[in-house]
Formats: sequence, C-alpha cells, structure tokens
Amino acid sequence: MSFAAAALTGLAGDGGLFVPEEIPPYAGGVKNSLGKMDFCDIAFETIKPYVNPEIPEAALEDMVHSAYPFSAPLVSVGDRLVLELFHGPTAAFKDFGARFMARAFSYLRRGEDKPLKILVATSGDTGGAVADGFYGVEGISVTVLYPKGRVSPLQEQQIAGLGGNISALAVEGSFDDCQRLVKAALGDESLRKRLTLSSANSINVSRLIPQAVYYAAAAGKAFAGKTDPDGEATPRVRGGNPRSSGGSRDRGAVDYGVRAGQPVMFCVPSGNFGNLTAGLYAMKMGAPIRGFIAATNANKTVPDYLESGSYEARLSQATISNAMDVGAPSNFERMAAHFSWDEMKRIIRGVSVSDAETRETIAAVYRDYGYFLDPHSAVGWKAADKLINQGLAGKGPGLQGPLAILSTAHPAKFAETVEPITGPIPVPPSLARAMDRKVESRTIPADVSAFLEVL
Ligand SMILES: *Cc1c(COP(=O)(O)O)cnc(C)c1O
Repeated sequence: MSFAAAALTGLAGDGGLFVPEEIPPYAGGVKNSLGKMDFCDIAFETIKPYVNPEIPEAALEDMVHSAYPFSAPLVSVGDRLVLELFHGPTAAFKDFGARFMARAFSYLRRGEDKPLKILVATSGDTGGAVADGFYGVEGISVTVLYPKGRVSPLQEQQIAGLGGNISALAVEGSFDDCQRLVKAALGDESLRKRLTLSSANSINVSRLIPQAVYYAAAAGKAFAGKTDPDGEATPRVRGGNPRSSGGSRDRGAVDYGVRAGQPVMFCVPSGNFGNLTAGLYAMKMGAPIRGFIAATNANKTVPDYLESGSYEARLSQATISNAMDVGAPSNFERMAAHFSWDEMKRIIRGVSVSDAETRETIAAVYRDYGYFLDPHSAVGWKAADKLINQGLAGKGPGLQGPLAILSTAHPAKFAETVEPITGPIPVPPSLARAMDRKVESRTIPADVSAFLEVL
C-alpha cells in the first residue's frame, strides 16, 4: 500500500492496522545532530522516509511548519524530567498527530473537486484535537459526534466552538451510540454516492508516525545534556510551592536528570498504546533511547502481557485517567508486528497504577515541587516511582540514567479532578481562548436516520 492509500483508508480491508514495512534508520548526520536540531527539522527528517515520494520535500517542509508552531519542552521537575506534550492548541499530545494528519489529508487530496467529509465520534478528547487539527484546512469538512451532556464544558467548547468547516452534533445517547452512527453512515451506499466520507480515528497511520518526532527531539536533547526552560503553558508555581518542604521527597543519591552521552528512558502513560508505539519507532530509527515504561491505570492488559507472555484483552474499567481506559489496546498489534515478547521485555517495563495512587501523586508532586500533573501524567510519574522503589530487580531496561515522564495533557483540562487536590491551576493561553468560545451544536437523537438526514 502507498502511504496515501493507507492514510486515506484508515483501516486495512481485513480489519487490521497498517504498519510500515520497515522502520527506516536516520542517516548518521541526522542521528548525531538531533540534540542541536530545530523541532520542525526533526519532524521533517523523521516523517520523510515514510511519505517519500508521495509527499515531496517542499510540501512536507510546509506541512511540518504549519502543523508545529509549538514544540515539546523537556523540563526538569524534582529528580527527573518531564516531556510536556500539551503546548498545542487543545493542550494534549493528540495535537501532534491530528495536526499532521489534517495537512497530509489535504495535500494527498489536492486537485479533487469533491470535498472530503470526515466523521468523528468522540467521548471528549479526540474530538477536540481532530476538530482543531482540521479547522480551516481546505477541501475538508469535519462532523464531530459527542454524547450530549457527557463531555466537560471545556471539551464541548473545543469541539463545538470553532464553527467554519467544523460542525458538531450532540447525540442524545452514549459514546457507543456516536460510534454506531458514524459506522452506519460510513457504510451507507447511497450517502457515499453523494459525499466522499472518511474517518479520522486514532489508529490512522498518519497520526502515528508524527508522534515519533517528539521522542527523537527529546532523546536528542537529553543525550546532549540539555533541558528546556519552562514554556508559556508549563504548569509550575514560579519559584516553587510556597508551602513546599524543599523537594527532598524520595531523593536518594540517584538523580534521573540529563547527563551528556546517556540515552534516556521514557515513561509513557498509555491507553490505546499509539503513543508508546511511536516511541518504539523513534528508538528503532536510532534516537538515543534506552527503554520505556508502559504506565497504565487499572487497565493493565499490556503490563500483564509483559509479565506472562500471553495477551488477553479485557473489558475496560473506568478510572480518573479516563483517556487511558482501554482494555483491548488497538496498537498492541502494531507493537507485536515489529517486536517479539522477548524483545519487548528487554525494552519495556509495564506498571499499573490505581486511582488512589494517582491522586496521592498529584498531591505529592505539587507539594514538593509546585508542579501540577494531570491524572494521566500522574500515572506515569507514579509508575516510575514504583519501579525506582523496587530497585533494579528483574529483567528489562535499567533504571539508572535520565528518566523522562511524558505529560500527555495539561492539568487544567482535568481541573475537576486536580483542583480539589491542589487548588487553582493556572490556565494556559490555548485553553483560555477555548473557554471564550460560544458552543454551537445541533442536538440529534441517537438514531441513524436522523444522522443521515443531517448529513
Ligand atoms: C489519548 C490519551 C492517552 C493515551 O494515549 P494512547 O496513545 O492511547 O496510549 C493518555 N493521556 C491522554 C491525556 C490522552 O488524551
């Protein structure tokens, strides 16, 4: 399959996921200068081999610059590093994938006269990132379906406050109803004769590949012994928490900060495992990464697999890190396509974290360092703590050396969980802008014929 076909189709004909036939190594010059390169240059070099020649270099150059006016700061927090992935417009890491996908779709469909209509069902977070990613992109319109009254007010503003080429439908039903309506519309022959329809779900390969970029950028920086200063959206009390005891918690002799010449370990709060899969790609391409921690909430299908070698999908359990409530992670199939169980065990350590531990961690990291974690990132922080406290026993990548927790969302997005623990969180400019938006959506019953009529 060409990249274009894989991206525009989304899912393979047999229901499987598209994977690259091979994961191309960085050229030596690129690999050795990751620590000095600009984020957009790393994006260009990382994505190029997957899309070449279908997206020529000049077009790719434009696409990465337009997709990434923001980057991913690697900051120090206490004894370790945090890779902040929430400096984009919807304040969550899904912006990195969604914004590239939107531009790739637009480019790959250039010259088509019929506009493309993208249908997305969301339980909250994905809808906002996809809507924002496609907002104002030529030749494409998006319809987002969300369960009425079951998303937060801020999520609703991100989904239904943009207008223009984005329209929002509040469905009187659940997320499952929204998904059912999207599937029915995509399969409706008479509708497909009149409209060119597609979906933009998280397993699209054009969303996955650009997520390798921030791993390569952060690994390069850490290997060069560098960190970034706080960014505009960094959720840290300036000068530390006034009530802090000085941040001595858990600080033994070990420091997990950057050290020149040492490859980093990433701790990835995971649900559907797209993010971690992209990290494996970056490692295989040659970015200086020594391993990963797969941090999950109670939905611990992958940590259990790493332990036992047998993969057993489960029903999902509801937690306070709800974007990670996935019992049957779709991207596991991609991990297994490139790595055996033995290989995975050498690279990845799995840890599961409870809701109580997540809340304690939000409190402790705020108390000690004046830094706000959202519930998903707190799962990551705690997973690393648990491994550190267990010592280095067992097989898997060693814990000594730089350790970076991926922070997948800004804590202000989950204020209802975090603020009762920490008090008020500073709101980043991107979310402040969304909070000013007026929601314009149309309510429909959870009924296929009503949806088809709207379309
Ligand atoms: C989607 C999401 C995750 C999980 O990422 P996967 O790629 O599905 O593993 C974690 N945190 C937040 C905030 C998310 O939105």
